[in-house]
Amino acid sequence: MADFIQIENQFTSGVYGKRDCCFVKGQGAVLWDSEGREYLDFGTGISVANLGHCHPRLVKAIQQQAATLMTSPELGYNDRRAQLLQILASITPDGINRFFLCSSGTEAVEGCIKFAHIATGRSKFVATMRGFHGRTIGSLAATHNKKYREPFAALTPSFSHVPFNKVEKLAATVNDQTAAVIIELVQGEGGVRLADAEFVAAARNICDEHGAMLIVDEVQTGFGRTGKMFACDHFGVKPDLMSMGKAIAGGVPMGAIGIGDQIGELKPGLHGSTFGGNPLACASALENIAILTDEHLIENSASQGEYFLKRLREIDSPEIREIRGIGLMIGVEMKSRVSPILQAMMDAGFVVLNAGPTVVRFLPPLNITKQQIDSVIESFVGCLNNIQDMQTA
Ligand code: PLP
Repeated sequence: MADFIQIENQFTSGVYGKRDCCFVKGQGAVLWDSEGREYLDFGTGISVANLGHCHPRLVKAIQQQAATLMTSPELGYNDRRAQLLQILASITPDGINRFFLCSSGTEAVEGCIKFAHIATGRSKFVATMRGFHGRTIGSLAATHNKKYREPFAALTPSFSHVPFNKVEKLAATVNDQTAAVIIELVQGEGGVRLADAEFVAAARNICDEHGAMLIVDEVQTGFGRTGKMFACDHFGVKPDLMSMGKAIAGGVPMGAIGIGDQIGELKPGLHGSTFGGNPLACASALENIAILTDEHLIENSASQGEYFLKRLREIDSPEIREIRGIGLMIGVEMKSRVSPILQAMMDAGFVVLNAGPTVVRFLPPLNITKQQIDSVIESFVGCLNNIQDMQTA
């Protein structure tokens, strides 16, 4: 068999640090590599495969749409797009009734920044420390981690970063020149950190006081990940702009911006995207949302998430600093770097992620079973014990 790892290494850009494994097939929560080894997937392509891999209904919907019409940009109208826009309006928070469709999370955040600028005429933004919003120039400016941002500092627009969950700092930073505040309600890449209800409510009020827009980034938290359709639903917050991506279309690349009432008219020509709202992605998103509902996967995310957190909290290990999570978005903060744990888990047949250098992150499919959770816990405990043994040896 061709050495795909060697070929990728030869021809790839170099911007990714990759695991030494070539995944070639998936079904439900299971992934297979090119050597035929099986893995349980607790990463879901970073919260994309919320239905698991190759859900038969999703595959069928994509196949049917691929054979019907794949591309039809918003130069005209399309049946699938119209249906998706209507569904999105019914599942997003009240006040969000218009949508811009695009192809990724960062593109959605980028559009939020543009729309907030158009709505307010202002060009200063406020984001949070440890926030992650993407890698294109505008979203990158909102992203806090200097490792990503600083090489491009000369290109990025004006963002101030305030400590997450610190109301006074936010109040002291937002003013009448602020176009928007952007927040994640559960910081994903920043270490699975939950926003306080008080901070979210204050962010809404502070924005209102100053005529600034509130952007909620639901790219990682959306579509059932946190045990509700959106993290906004836990807080009852009404954003002016909401970015979506990742799981929206079950694996077909797609992003979306939810546009609130406070964003005025957006004139033709102001923004656009060739692939935005293409019928293939729309058909996939429609079926994805239908499956989430029909199979009660959001309820499952809430209940299995509780079980997962309970099982993690039963672990007695001096290696663990803190366990955080909501629904099936779970982080375990360790006292040391997690790369050896990720590798050991891979070797044991489990794909788990990190969120920063010291957090192990679990983002399983929303139809994960108790048995599968038990097996990852068992393996995780084994890894922690091995690490401890090595340290005491
Ligand atoms: N916003 C959040 C909260 C994210 O977690 C991510 C990606 O991890 C993005 C935006 C960027 O999404 P994408 O990688 O699809 O551009």
